[in-house]
Amino acid sequence: MAEMVPEVSTGILVKNLYLSCDPYMRPRMQKLEGSYVESFKPGSPIYGYGVAKVLDSGHTRFNKGDLIWGMTGWEEYTLITTPQSLLSLFKIQHTDVPPSYYTGILGMPGMTAYAGFYEVCSPKFGEYVYVSAASGAVGQLVGQFAKLLGCYVVGSAGSKDKVDLLKNKFKFDEAFNYKEEEDLNAALKRYFPEGIDIYFENVGGKMLDAVLLNMRARGRIAVCGMISQYNLDKPEGVYNLTTLISKGIRMEGFLVPDYYHLYPKYLEMIIPHIKEGKIVYVEDVAEGLESAPSALIGLFSGRNVGKQVVAVAHY
Ligand code: NDP
Repeated sequence: MAEMVPEVSTGILVKNLYLSCDPYMRPRMQKLEGSYVESFKPGSPIYGYGVAKVLDSGHTRFNKGDLIWGMTGWEEYTLITTPQSLLSLFKIQHTDVPPSYYTGILGMPGMTAYAGFYEVCSPKFGEYVYVSAASGAVGQLVGQFAKLLGCYVVGSAGSKDKVDLLKNKFKFDEAFNYKEEEDLNAALKRYFPEGIDIYFENVGGKMLDAVLLNMRARGRIAVCGMISQYNLDKPEGVYNLTTLISKGIRMEGFLVPDYYHLYPKYLEMIIPHIKEGKIVYVEDVAEGLESAPSALIGLFSGRNVGKQVVAVAHY
């Protein structure tokens, strides 16, 4: 029987420009049970968020020459044909900002920071906010959003350069290198003598345990991710969960696709902030498709400084 070849008439053919390296891609490399995403298929190109140019379209929503962001393949060209994949694509309207930003501040990580902070954390002026993995794609934005609201913000990151970035570029009130702290509980007490109102959780494990001991009554923890756990066969134990009861803390996980209906509202807020320099964004761009595997792996040792992007071709 002849092999079924998908036709452009049922979808779009795109040239991939920028690929996004994201931590959630790691769990997709194993067998997943009860997950909202599927495992990658051995022998097929892996896929993830990216920015691409439409070369040919058989779909009414897209025209030749359009720029899009959404799910695409880790390859030079991708034929996107399934209704589900096509529905998940966003057409890029604002082209007077760097197109690679649609892998970060104007794409999935930006929406994650926005929804996680404003919708999940219920933040208020003057509250004490702590962000882990704070210099990364999501964290750098959460800290800046919290500063815009008038919160006191502390971030942690894994190197001196990243700590400098947090304090000097993103204007966090304080920042520390968690790798240099023997006692995370003591470190948090030093930066939050009155406790933490909001914890934006990106790493999990020991950090979460220490944060639980330092939360204030009625505090909120937005569980965005737990990158310290993704490479472990068995997740690390978290022992201080009873503080949720005694202090009336709300801990809530969330997935960014559930908030994509807010994307137009987010763009309305963020584009002027970028143009006026009120929000800055740092990217770490690896050149060429061949650099993609090491760029992705680098997320798990903190090699990236800012949002990790792979430039397959420049716009
Ligand atoms: P980053 O750009 O922050 O890159 C990952 C960073 O995590 C590394 O640079 C490193 O920074 C840190 N890290 C790596 N390993 C560890 C470890 N063992 N312990 C502590 N820190 C570690 O990634 P993103 O901003 O894209 O993602 C941040 C989090 O948000 C992740 O947990 C991710 O899964 C989650 N996420 C969740 C979404 C959702 O819908 N809920 C959507 C998008 C992201 P350092 O040098 O500081 O250690």
